[in-house]
Amino acid sequence: MAELLAREGYQLSEHAGRAEVIIVNTCGFIGPARDESFQVLGDLAARKRKGQLLIAAGCLTQRYGAEVARRVPGIDGILGTRRWMDIVEVLHKLDRGGGLQPVYHLPETPAAGVPSETGRRERGVPRLAVQGGSAYLKIADGCRRPCAFCAIPLIKGTAVSRPMEAVLTDARFLVSQGVREINLIAQDTTDYGYDLGLKDGLALLLEKMTDPELYGQMRVQSTRDPAHTAFGRMPSAPTDPAPDGRTHGSAPTDDPLWIRVLYAYPGYVTDRLIEIMATRPQIVHYLDMPLQHAHPDTLRRMRRPANIEWVYSTLEKMRRQIPDLALRTTFIVGYPGETEDEFQTLLDFVEAMRFDRVGTFQFSFETGTPSEPLGDPIPPEVKEERYNRLMELQHGISLEINQTFVGKILPVLIEGQEDAGIDHPAGIGGQRPPEHPVGTGGQRPPEHPAGTDGRKPAENPESEGILIGRSYRDAPEIDGVVVVEAASDQRAASDQRAASDQRAAVNLRDGREHRDVRSERDGSEETLIGPVIYIGKIVPVRITGAMAYDLNGILEPRGGNHIDRSK
Ligand code: SF4
Repeated sequence: MAELLAREGYQLSEHAGRAEVIIVNTCGFIGPARDESFQVLGDLAARKRKGQLLIAAGCLTQRYGAEVARRVPGIDGILGTRRWMDIVEVLHKLDRGGGLQPVYHLPETPAAGVPSETGRRERGVPRLAVQGGSAYLKIADGCRRPCAFCAIPLIKGTAVSRPMEAVLTDARFLVSQGVREINLIAQDTTDYGYDLGLKDGLALLLEKMTDPELYGQMRVQSTRDPAHTAFGRMPSAPTDPAPDGRTHGSAPTDDPLWIRVLYAYPGYVTDRLIEIMATRPQIVHYLDMPLQHAHPDTLRRMRRPANIEWVYSTLEKMRRQIPDLALRTTFIVGYPGETEDEFQTLLDFVEAMRFDRVGTFQFSFETGTPSEPLGDPIPPEVKEERYNRLMELQHGISLEINQTFVGKILPVLIEGQEDAGIDHPAGIGGQRPPEHPVGTGGQRPPEHPAGTDGRKPAENPESEGILIGRSYRDAPEIDGVVVVEAASDQRAASDQRAASDQRAAVNLRDGREHRDVRSERDGSEETLIGPVIYIGKIVPVRITGAMAYDLNGILEPRGGNHIDRSK
């Protein structure tokens, strides 16, 4: 919407009070989100200036559009979640004095192989959310799965895939902008292309996304080791290190690309997909596959795939072909009818599978979902107790797995700097797009609120120059982070050289660009210190410490030729 409005000459305003048009992107997925959306809409409607327009968009309006019109007096327009592209028309109608313009409906159900129009009329707008060096790229919207607890199909409608060419165009654009990580998202990425008539559509898309031809001149230009020059390989160093150990600035496209697949559906991870993940170096060895439960009876009541043998055999196959695979999953505890025995089966399963990451939700009752007739019979204290037992079990497993990385070198995408007040902007603080709040999410326990050791920069004088990043094992905003600092000998050597070098260079101590310049007027010299330019880059980091969710490490300026991702 922002892009369509910008094309029409609208400008973003920081202050709702001064804006001519206020657009609220609502969420209606669960009760608390609905309450908050109504609260915000009500407040804004009450404070509306004469001539100001208030538009509600998003999930709440998709499902409860008529209720929004009734409960928010003064609302001027209502857009369903799949009709964001109509924003300009709605504003034009309102300009002509059209009164309330509710435009909301679900897309039609497309038959297999018959392209659906609704949801594809994107008007050339990229479906992207970029934060630093990382981006979410939407490949489909809506869901045709029958999960009994989930309101998303009611809100978003059935699955509609974006045309492959549009996705590839967006990927090319992201790489041209220096984005180093593309996270593919949809409610169910493994369903990509079904409505386009594609077989194994996700595998096909990944094949095309990892074809160097797609990126043309954006391929790696040069590094010192040919074995590490292919597009998408791990870097041999942050970028082309000079003999003095400093790392010189370079074009953003010299770094590798990470492609991450989120939200796979059990039963739909095909052999072809596993092979593509195992053999294409750009695809990170990470998979997020929400399983929701492990007891077949609970899964049947959830209307989820109940063939737990498939899960065992597929994960075993994946781990054989991709030994350094990081697996994330999500469970719901306290689902109606979950007995203590069923819950114990889930605990045993988690213990046996040793997932790298586990998110857990307590069941939230939603009217209108297929599970509504089952009610919400499990008391909140039982849900809480099961939640705690599961998270405690996983805490120990995560810690043990993380400890196996100490001493190894991992490529890390740097996203923030602790002392700059921009702690892991994508890693923790930002908002994960709300595509799949039940299917994937997962709450991070509160013991690591900052994603590190919990120390605030102001209380930690040694935090200067500390960088925050993620390894391939960490999806943005949901998994852990890697807290990175330079080793002390690197700091000293780097400091010494900074005074004499005439070139622009990244200082290993603080990750900033240091540019030595000579004044043309009087010949005097000074060092200009630029912004932190490690941010948005993938650098090798030697892991020195492990917690349950996060890792500590030091920059490894010469570690590129022996980057080791094995466990
Ligand atoms: S839980 Fe995920 S896969 Fe199931 S219906 Fe909801 S969005 Fe679809």
